[in-house]
Amino acid sequence: TQVTSTLLYLDDVSVSFDGFKAINGLSLAIEPGEMRAIIGPNGAGKTTMMDIITGKTRPDTGDVLFEGQMDLTQHDETEIAQAGIGRKFQKPTVFESQTVRENLELALSGNRGVWASLFYRESEADAARIEEILQTVRLQQRANELASDLSHGQKQWLEIGMLLAQDPKLLLVDEPVAGMTDAETVETAKLLREISKTHSVIVVEHDMGFIRDLDVKVTVLAEGSVLAEGSLDHVSAHPDVIESYLGR
Ligand code: ADP
Repeated sequence: TQVTSTLLYLDDVSVSFDGFKAINGLSLAIEPGEMRAIIGPNGAGKTTMMDIITGKTRPDTGDVLFEGQMDLTQHDETEIAQAGIGRKFQKPTVFESQTVRENLELALSGNRGVWASLFYRESEADAARIEEILQTVRLQQRANELASDLSHGQKQWLEIGMLLAQDPKLLLVDEPVAGMTDAETVETAKLLREISKTHSVIVVEHDMGFIRDLDVKVTVLAEGSVLAEGSLDHVSAHPDVIESYLGR
């Protein structure tokens, strides 16, 4: 029986591409307020899992339940985003010719639909929300600069900010620290820990130092299903995990 308080529940999900099972009996439960790290070797199915959660890929079998009742396999990407699942892809996609603040304003107004965003006038509440987000993503001092002038790491933070502006219940964050400096990587772990106080988060990442800093439960995927789950120390001591990373 399904526990309805679970925020996201994947139950025995499988999907094949040309006869190859990219996801093979994957089950996963994310609780409200939880931040979960997903790791696994290349080809483990991490991207495909995110695609299934966001409605980009429809599984062949299995259930994907959001908030205990919404069956995500029956909805498209737009509906799933509107239900409160936001995704940040690996490559930042900010509006380079707009300022940092304008990028956040666009994300906030876009949330209200095309017509509302055309006639958008920023309210005090919105202005306060934008200040709050600027602070969270460490861009207060850069608010009036063009996004094109930000470092790669700062662009990633801006995009996380744009995601926050849409106020999702669950954030999916794909390799946030790829290409970041060490200092930015450390800061990103802090930033995500702050965000996780008010949002549920799934982070896919390869950087083990970063995963350690996150200090959250880790799920190891391999060959399309869960190989191990628990603290980073627990999963890294698991013989199958060592084997899947070091090869046979
Ligand atoms: P990861 O993100 O963990 O590296 P992926 O989810 O990208 O893994 O891929 C899992 C497996 O599924 C890989 O073997 C990949 O080649 C395959 N795959 C993913 N998407 C497709 C697709 N659209 N068509 C065919 N094969 C795919």
